[in-house]
Amino acid sequence: MTTKPTDAPSLQSPLSASNAPSVQSPSSASNAPSVQSPSNASNVPSVQSPSNASNVPSVQSPLNGDPAPRPFLRRPTTVAQVGNTAIGGDNPIRIQSMTTTDTNDTQGCVEQAKRIIMMGGELVRLTTQGTREAENLQNIVRELRLQGFMTPLVADVHFNPNVADVAARYVEKVRINPGNYVDPARTFRHLEYTDEEYQAELRKIEERFVPFLRICREHHTAIRIGVNHGSLSDRIMSRYGDTPEGIVESCMEFLRICQREDFQNVVISIKASNTVVMVQSVRLLVKAMDSEDMHYPLHLGVTEAGEGEDGRIKSAVGIGALLTEGIGDTIRVSLSEDPEYEIPVARKLVESIGECTYLRAQAEASLNDDTVTLCLDEPDWETFQLKAAMAVGALFIDQKAHRLTITNENFTHEQLTALADSILQAARIKFTKTEYISCPGCGRTLYDLQTTIRRIKEATKGMVGLKIGIMGCIVNGPGEMADADYGYVGAARGKISLYRGKECVLKNIPEQDAVQQLLRLILEDQKKLH
Ligand code: SF4
Repeated sequence: MTTKPTDAPSLQSPLSASNAPSVQSPSSASNAPSVQSPSNASNVPSVQSPSNASNVPSVQSPLNGDPAPRPFLRRPTTVAQVGNTAIGGDNPIRIQSMTTTDTNDTQGCVEQAKRIIMMGGELVRLTTQGTREAENLQNIVRELRLQGFMTPLVADVHFNPNVADVAARYVEKVRINPGNYVDPARTFRHLEYTDEEYQAELRKIEERFVPFLRICREHHTAIRIGVNHGSLSDRIMSRYGDTPEGIVESCMEFLRICQREDFQNVVISIKASNTVVMVQSVRLLVKAMDSEDMHYPLHLGVTEAGEGEDGRIKSAVGIGALLTEGIGDTIRVSLSEDPEYEIPVARKLVESIGECTYLRAQAEASLNDDTVTLCLDEPDWETFQLKAAMAVGALFIDQKAHRLTITNENFTHEQLTALADSILQAARIKFTKTEYISCPGCGRTLYDLQTTIRRIKEATKGMVGLKIGIMGCIVNGPGEMADADYGYVGAARGKISLYRGKECVLKNIPEQDAVQQLLRLILEDQKKLH
């Protein structure tokens, strides 16, 4: 059996807020979290005090004037030890990514994990859909360690607690999803429970989860309780509705078991493709944890953020809003690109926390007539986009303003206007282009995601206000694109299913026809609306 490393070093224009959609969306673009539809190492760490994280620069702004720079205060947390890498407390904010290779393909996973690590990834996650993949993790771990790569690996498990039990023996951390760990996969059915029946469901979860925690304790394996807005269980949805409160409770149910079991090697995440839902839910989770004296570190990410500039800006708005509030101990920027390209983006976000915290305070102090004004003299276009989105995103998420003016003499008026529009769309204030909710891909992906995204974008680019989900697999795709008006989902190799909202309207159609069929579906619906 492969042994886990524990201490080896790691190789390591003023804009109109009006929407004038040229194509009508079957659903409204609201900020509300409701789903839119057209249709242990039990190491008991103490809470570490607020401090400047070692990789977080202190607030240094190139700008003069009020408000005075304020110290960057990071939320105090316990520390989760993941192999040789500690998350939370005073430790640097960790950067991570996830492989897109088949987890049965040892060599493919090793090579991709190495590319992520060599770009600066500090944790590498692998999809672990079954026992066979879980067993193969030991080969991937062994090969990476033989080559001198000691970076901790994380198994990503859905739907099958037995798989989590196996994976916990081989890798340094296992992510489970409360939405499908014991509860069955989401079907959008409303379930009625008496209080007694609901408590019985919670006991079922505890009876299955506690043996898993014992395995993790025995093997010094950390866990991530990873809630996704798109995969909340029917049980939670029926009890709490599609609300931030439901998202948080889904997490707290599992955390209370960890507390009772005195299992502290835990990281938490709540992700959504809607930045407003993501930010509000994480803030609410922090409050809920504080009220129950829990201080677990947080993993931040915006799911299905897409690719290119829009994917980067959307991630910077959501992740940046929280980082500039001192929340977040590890981040993943999920892009529908090769995973190593996520790392430099995440690194820039972490390195910009100090400056963006200051810029955010300054922009908020100078709010005028529903307009945020941001002056930022950053010459590098991508860094500028990320900093701008990170600095002002929260102001729009919180609806403190609806217009954005950006100045930077290095770029044209058109570029600055386009950036402002992208930030406002990422914060769900104003929609000026088609929104693509595309998954980053993983070992379950059933088609060439990057090529398909390009083809769908080309076919639908003028459809302002429409949200199109592009998801690699049928297992998680339909749930996790819950916010989309239409969905393109991998059903099997060479087969695609098309969705209108949550409804599958065309099943298992040949992949070569699927983009055209999607376009036809949208245009026919538009005709009916007019
Ligand atoms: S939707 Fe499917 S293919 Fe895409 S990242 Fe999620 S699990 Fe992987």
